[in-house]
Amino acid sequence: MSNLITLNNIRKIYKMGNEKIVALNDVSLSIDRKEFICLLGTSGSGKSTLLNMMAGLEKPTRGEIIIENHHIEKMNEKQLAQFRQLHIGFVFQSYNLISTLSALENVSLGLTFRGIPRKKRENIAKKMLESVGLGNRLNHKPSEMSGGQQQRVSIARAFVENPEIIFADEPTGNLDSKTTVEVMNLITGMAKKNEQTLIIVTHDPEISPYSDRIVHLRDGNIEKISKNKHKGEGNR
Ligand code: ADP
Ligand code: MG
Repeated sequence: MSNLITLNNIRKIYKMGNEKIVALNDVSLSIDRKEFICLLGTSGSGKSTLLNMMAGLEKPTRGEIIIENHHIEKMNEKQLAQFRQLHIGFVFQSYNLISTLSALENVSLGLTFRGIPRKKRENIAKKMLESVGLGNRLNHKPSEMSGGQQQRVSIARAFVENPEIIFADEPTGNLDSKTTVEVMNLITGMAKKNEQTLIIVTHDPEISPYSDRIVHLRDGNIEKISKNKHKGEGNR
């Protein structure tokens, strides 16, 4: 497998008045193409900070983030926005859907920037929503859907552009246990089918067995990295 993401000595300090909070102390990590990584740790261990660094949503205080030869830490806002557009899909705990738009509009919005004509965008979005089991909810607004359905819409939105990397921050954090299993099966199944690299943040040890490797975070450091045995080469 070939390397896709490299983190070298990432440090992130937040300043709050006179106080310095070390969110990430000194994190180095290498992630392969098509790998499924789980960032596991208790609340406050630095999981979201690390994910946001890799996705170019925040700058490290120190260190390098290299994705396919691009130095993320050196990019300006415009370059970052374009990079995310081309390479990255997101799934958030709180769905982050646009409340005034229908499921179909939320999913097709991401395709607007590609210059695809509206009718075609809607067809692609419709197929995507059908594939996440929401073919009968196309015109529903977020408030007219359950949490699990809203997360399915946000999954359809993340995958619709077929990005190389999917980042998900506690994607099942607001869902009951049955819906959690459905949503996890959906995300992991789609990433596998499309041969995408998947990085999921969670504090829930029940989620981590799905992954190839578990990166255990503690107080802003990698405590250990464990491999899931059933996930050998060629299994994904
Ligand atoms: P996790 O996602 O593992 O719960 P975070 O990465 O969100 O943890 O946070 C790691 C640490 O950094 C926590 O102590 C948190 O309070 C702090 N932190 C996160 N974001 C900020 C911020 N924007 N300003 C100040 N401190 C922050
Ligand atoms: Mg978090």
